[in-house]
Amino acid sequence: MTGRYSEDELIATLFAPLAGAAALGLKDDAALLPPQVEPLAVTTDMLVAGVHFFPDDPPSLIAKKALRVNLSDLAAKAATPCGFLLSIALPPEWTNEWLAAFAQGLGEDARDFRAPLLGGDTSATPGPLTIAITAMGAAPRFVSRAGAQPGDGLYVSGAIGDAALGLLLRRDPSTAAHLSVDQRDALLTRYLLPQPRLDLVDLLRGEAKSAMDVSDGLAGDLVKLTRTSGVSARVEIARVPFSAAGRAMISGDQTLLETALTGGDDYEILFTAGPGFSPPAGVARIGEIVAGDDPPILDGWPAGSHRAARLSFAHF
Ligand SMILES: [Mg+2]
Repeated sequence: MTGRYSEDELIATLFAPLAGAAALGLKDDAALLPPQVEPLAVTTDMLVAGVHFFPDDPPSLIAKKALRVNLSDLAAKAATPCGFLLSIALPPEWTNEWLAAFAQGLGEDARDFRAPLLGGDTSATPGPLTIAITAMGAAPRFVSRAGAQPGDGLYVSGAIGDAALGLLLRRDPSTAAHLSVDQRDALLTRYLLPQPRLDLVDLLRGEAKSAMDVSDGLAGDLVKLTRTSGVSARVEIARVPFSAAGRAMISGDQTLLETALTGGDDYEILFTAGPGFSPPAGVARIGEIVAGDDPPILDGWPAGSHRAARLSFAHF
């Protein structure tokens, strides 16, 4: 195959413009971070074509998703992004055009979220496109999953389930024919392009006792949070926030309520806060933390109560 960048060319042409000062122009063996005043939160996520995204998704959106899922983890720890590392393994059919669009999308988000590229690696692979990003963020007050206590309120940001419902529409466009074009677009976009809740960092830093981002489904992620904290929880499903489009899709098929509550890719924040906390607009109180080590009780699932033991998305 001809007409493709060499590794050096693609780094210099496509990735160096995204680099922060600490990256030394992506010309050295390693980046050199200056001394940090605050602790660093560090997280990594790997995205594999055919598993985490469709190979024919727009490359700029694949890039943004790969970065944003990491930024979502930083947001959940009340950390402010300061940079990221990118490793990408390219299948045989990659083109300069694909990679340029990928780098452009990545560069837009690196700028918008103030997270410069600090280094990385590229490789060819006989397998599917694979992207691994490691992101770092300043965490003056790291909010762990372990701090939930009985009596805490349980809160979730934004709307739950849109991405999982959007994935159903992506897989089978004939699903939910009663939805308007705008409603379909809203759900599809939530799947394609997550919004990391960095706007909540200050709130979490000030008020949250425990937090995590909702990446593998609200029900299953709640199990992880309560388990890590050594507590249980009681959730009222009727209080879980859904978007107008999500509600419209669920209203046509009540079994989709379970999809919304257990599907992945929400990238909202699930957190707990003490009794004095009153949530701002866009944050819903969905229940409370209670003592014990039983799996959380979900009241109203879909009729009556349900223990949320095995409701999480898992890769294995
Ligand atoms: Mg996470």
